[in-house]
Amino acid sequence: MTEILDGNAVAQSVRDDLATAIDQLADEGVQPSLATVLMSDDPASETYVSMKQDDCAEVGIEAIDIEIDPEADADELYDTIDDLNADGNVNGILVQMPVPDHVDDRAVLRAIDPEKDVDGFHPENVGRLVAGDARYKPCTPHGIQKLIESAGVDTEGKDAVVVGRSDIVGKPMANLLVQKAPGGNATTTVCHSRTEDLAAKTGEADIVIAAAGVPEMIDGEMLKEGATVIDVGINRVDADTENGSELVGDVDFESAKEVAGAITPVPGGVGPMTRAMLLYNTVKAASRQHGIDVDL
Ligand code: NDP
Repeated sequence: MTEILDGNAVAQSVRDDLATAIDQLADEGVQPSLATVLMSDDPASETYVSMKQDDCAEVGIEAIDIEIDPEADADELYDTIDDLNADGNVNGILVQMPVPDHVDDRAVLRAIDPEKDVDGFHPENVGRLVAGDARYKPCTPHGIQKLIESAGVDTEGKDAVVVGRSDIVGKPMANLLVQKAPGGNATTTVCHSRTEDLAAKTGEADIVIAAAGVPEMIDGEMLKEGATVIDVGINRVDADTENGSELVGDVDFESAKEVAGAITPVPGGVGPMTRAMLLYNTVKAASRQHGIDVDL
């Protein structure tokens, strides 16, 4: 019987656990806060930011909403980040990507104080993750670790294949899977667009993480019987629905679920976990910055 991994339920349990830590901080007079910075008029980015703001409000994290005209000079964004870095009332800073073309996104990531970098994308935090001493694990891979754990799957000694090598999903995911730590100790292969014979790699894997952004590219025939399949992809495709489209993952769910031991749906799998882990990192940031030990 294939287990459908319910990201909404696991994300709710993460939020429930966070409530304890937020109460502990409140006992010390601290309310965690997250500043979101949006320099874009892309509707998807606007939606992502407003969802993050709503998530914060729901668990009792203060959300600080900053919008910068996408036409503005890059310095306006850097000055904003400097102010947020210096503001003792701000624990986490998230600059919604992508930023406009005239802004250097790598420079933006470097400008954020690593202690407030709750996305975990600052080079110092990337380095710490690789070194096995993560300050903040990036939200999507961390959420995936929690999902795999929730399925009762032990990654130790397993063959894992990560499809995709982006800085925000594929690479940090692979790094977590190879760590000598719980949720790691997997023999990990990273595949990408130049991989020859992807099916041969995925077909040998006990755990497949699909993060390529290609609709339904991995089907049941490419999977090993009983594999744990985590679908990160979010792709909007034409469909016979009211608004003429639907969201699908990178995995062909219908054929994959006939073969997999456990599988995440899209939507309702990885997405809610990414959002929950941002809250986790923000609470962790508040705890670190105020020197208050909390149960996380
Ligand atoms: P990127 O576009 O940055 O990276 C995609 C990666 O997939 C690249 O490494 C690319 O290879 C590889 N790839 C592309 N096509 C193929 C192929 N045919 N075979 C093998 N590898 C391929 O994407 P992201 O990592 O940012 O996101 C991936 C997907 O996950 C997207 O659908 C995105 O929307 C979704 N996403 C979902 C999140 C969630 O919370 N659920 C969070 C973040 C992303 P190469 O490097 O060679 O170009």
